[in-house]
Amino acid sequence: MGETHLIYMDHAATTFTKPEVIEAMLPFLKEHFGNPSSLYSIGREGKEAVETSRKKLAKALGAAQPEEIYFTSGGTESDNWAIKGTAFSRQKKGKHIITTPIEHHAVLYPCEYLETQGFEVTYLPVDEYGLVNPAEVEASIKKDTVLISVMYANNEIGTIEPILEIGKIAREHGIPFHTDAVQVIGKVPLDLQREHKDVDMLSLSSHKFYGPKGIGALYIREGTEIDNYMHGGAQERGKRAGTENVVGIVGMGKAIELATANIEAHNEKLSKMRARLMAGILEIPYCRLNGHPEKRLPGNLNFSFEYIEGESLLLMLDQMGICCSTGSACSSGSSEPSHVLRAIGLAPKTAQGTLRLTLGDANSEEDIDYVLEVLPEVVGKLRAISPFYKPESKCEK
Ligand code: PLP
Repeated sequence: MGETHLIYMDHAATTFTKPEVIEAMLPFLKEHFGNPSSLYSIGREGKEAVETSRKKLAKALGAAQPEEIYFTSGGTESDNWAIKGTAFSRQKKGKHIITTPIEHHAVLYPCEYLETQGFEVTYLPVDEYGLVNPAEVEASIKKDTVLISVMYANNEIGTIEPILEIGKIAREHGIPFHTDAVQVIGKVPLDLQREHKDVDMLSLSSHKFYGPKGIGALYIREGTEIDNYMHGGAQERGKRAGTENVVGIVGMGKAIELATANIEAHNEKLSKMRARLMAGILEIPYCRLNGHPEKRLPGNLNFSFEYIEGESLLLMLDQMGICCSTGSACSSGSSEPSHVLRAIGLAPKTAQGTLRLTLGDANSEEDIDYVLEVLPEVVGKLRAISPFYKPESKCEK
C-alpha cells in the first residue's frame, strides 16, 4: 500500500489496484497501443484483449454470452444508461419507474431527471435497516410501470437487498429489472443464468474490486429493450460508441477473475476481522450500528456516535493514519446527513456522527488492533469538547 503505512478502511469508496492487475495492463500502455478498430496486428491485439476481457466478465457473472456485457466508464455511467436508456426506449408503454430512496446518486439523479421529463417515480420506503420489502414492490406496480431498479447492496450501510424476490416479481409482471451491483462483486457470487435469471441489467465498476478506475460494465440480458447510450462509432455493437478503454478493460478482466476466484475464503477472512472490530467499537458508549446486523456486506461497518461530528472524527482519524469515511464518500464535504441515513429514520443529530469503516484486502488483524486502540480515545477527546455531552447522557434513537 505504498511507502507510508496507512490503515485503509474505505474499500467501499475505492480499492487499491492489485499488482497482478497492473502487470496485465502494462503491455497495453506500452507496446500494444493499437486502436481495437484497426485491422493491422497491434489493433487486432487490442481487439482480442477486449474480447478476452468480455469473456472473463461474462464467466464471472454467469452470463449466457459475452455479448451481454457492455463496457462503460464505470458504475455511474452503467446506472445512467440502465435507467435513462430503458425509460426512454419504453416510454410509449408507460412512464412509471420504481426504485428506492437509498440508491446511489448515480441512480437517484437520473430518476430525478426523468421526473422533469414527465416520468413518475415511486421511491419505496425501507425499514430501519434499509431493507426493501418485496411485497411493497409488488403493491407499487402500475399498468404503466416500465422499470424497477433496486440496488443489490447499499454502499453506506452495507445492507443486502432481497434481489431474488424482487427480480421474480418484476419477471412475473413483465417489467425489466435493473440492479446496481457495484458493491457486491467479489462478495456475493452471481449467476445470471440460474439464481439471478430475473435480473435484466446489472451495473458494476472495476475500482470497487481492485481494478483500475474509470472503467465498468453494464450487463444487458439479450432481448432487453434499451436505447443506445453513446452515438458515434460501431464499438460495443453500436450501443456505446467510442474507442474502447483497452487498458482499463484488460485490468477489469484480470480484477474480476481474481475477485471471484475465492469469494468464500475472502468473505470469511473479512467477516472475522469485522466481527472483532464491531464488538470492540460497540463497547464505546452511545454508539449504534447502522444497517442490517446479518444481511450486510462482509467488510462493511457503519456506526453513529452521539455527541460527535462525523467530519471531525474523520479528520482526527486521518491524522492517526486511518482512512475511512463519514456518511458516504460521494457526499463527504457536505455536513448534511446522507440520504441513506435519513431514509432509515436516523435523527439528524445522530446521523451527523456517522463513521463508515469498510474492510478489504488492504487490512490485517493488526489494523483492527490499531483502530480499536485509537478510536475510543478519539471519540473520548471529541466528546470532552462537545457542549452537549454529559457522561450521564442518554442515547437518542
Ligand atoms: N453505485 C454504487 C452503489 C456505488 O457505491 C458507486 C460508487 O461509490 C457507484 C454506483 C458509482 O460508481 P463509479 O465510481 O464507478 O462511477
